[in-house]
Amino acid sequence: MTIKSKAIRNLVLPAGDLLFGQRMMSRLKFLEKAQFLSQQELNNCQDKSLRSLIQIACDEVPFYRDVMLQRGMLPSEILSTGDLSKLPVVTKNMLSDAYPEGVTRKTGQKTYESRTSGSTGKNFVVLEDAETAGWYRASFMLALEWSGWQIGEPHLQTGMTLTRSFDRRLKDKLLGCHYVSAYQLDDAHLDTILHTIEDKQLQYAWGYPGSIYHLAKRAKEVGWNRPLKAVSTWGDSLYPAYRALIEQVFQCQVFDTYGCAEGFQVAAQCEYGNYHIHALDVIVEYLDDDDQPVPEGEVGNLVITRLHSGPMPLIRYKVGDLGISAASKACPCGRELPLLDSIQGRNADMVTTPSGNRLIVHYFTGILEHFMEIDAFQVEQDRPDHIIVRIVPNTENVSTIKQKIIQALKEKGARELEVDLEVVRSIPLSPAGKHKFILNTIDK
Ligand SMILES: [Zn+2]
Repeated sequence: MTIKSKAIRNLVLPAGDLLFGQRMMSRLKFLEKAQFLSQQELNNCQDKSLRSLIQIACDEVPFYRDVMLQRGMLPSEILSTGDLSKLPVVTKNMLSDAYPEGVTRKTGQKTYESRTSGSTGKNFVVLEDAETAGWYRASFMLALEWSGWQIGEPHLQTGMTLTRSFDRRLKDKLLGCHYVSAYQLDDAHLDTILHTIEDKQLQYAWGYPGSIYHLAKRAKEVGWNRPLKAVSTWGDSLYPAYRALIEQVFQCQVFDTYGCAEGFQVAAQCEYGNYHIHALDVIVEYLDDDDQPVPEGEVGNLVITRLHSGPMPLIRYKVGDLGISAASKACPCGRELPLLDSIQGRNADMVTTPSGNRLIVHYFTGILEHFMEIDAFQVEQDRPDHIIVRIVPNTENVSTIKQKIIQALKEKGARELEVDLEVVRSIPLSPAGKHKFILNTIDK
């Protein structure tokens, strides 16, 4: 570890924690050790946190107290992960309806609201405090360390916060962060970012998969040839084609992470490419639409219990993402944190056919990435039985591929759908600056 990294870990960040009440650094030091606990020890830690969470929620949060009263249950009946199924699955709507009085508690700390866009398009509010943020950041830092990065090593970060507040700028400076906008992805801006990497000799790049992908694409166009040590991604789906190009151009491994804006990290990739669940932060369940567990290896709704109670406990909370659990196997990295096979993206990023088949983003990428004539695409479902597939072709002659695309989609799962194909010049980014592969406009 470098002297700079040591100084930041032992002096600067602890001072920042004192100032902001986050206790991030002590949590990170705990996680750095705890990540190598045996499965049994991890389970014990998890169950201990769970028992405390349930007790707090029952004592201090009317919503959960009522849930338990209605079921005639005592907190002492939830002793371990296996007992969670005695409690109902909680949706965003249930929490929104009871917000704030019914679902929050006082922690003695200053609280703030974090907003996320719910799958229904309605904003969903979660109450957080400094300690929740500290937990979240510690696990995030741990995931960044899995890529080989050490605190303080200079890196590039693409993000959405265009105006950096004073404390963020200070944090950027101390942590060696060169922050650039992920809103602007035109060639001139991408060239500036590449110049920054070169000029500051940055060896790590972090950000949304979409923005790093466009950066890699530009780098390839201009003949960039400067390897990075690692790329870390979050906040959006990392498609296989994105990963392949980023790894090829920047000649390094991509480490994907998965967290929720509701204030917790769920999983991150280790050096062997496996997604390990942050089992000391969350319990992950994979459930069908009737809230029953799905068999291992099948797609299920992700239902999360955050082990840190915070000002708004989240117990069996349906996040709105789909995921697949991985077989319990040993990872060569030595961590016994459970594995997650893959995240299938937001519920809304999905086309549902009249008979209930789900066509996820990977269904479309899996078919359309074989058409070399297409640069980009977007699918809009505007009626239950109708989708519009917009393509940006790189050739004038599109009439032959149009039929082939429709045929391929119909053969592989979209047979009940009427498919219209539109040729467009570009796909606009969403207001959040993300490339949306699937738009669902049925109810709007
Ligand atoms: Zn591993």
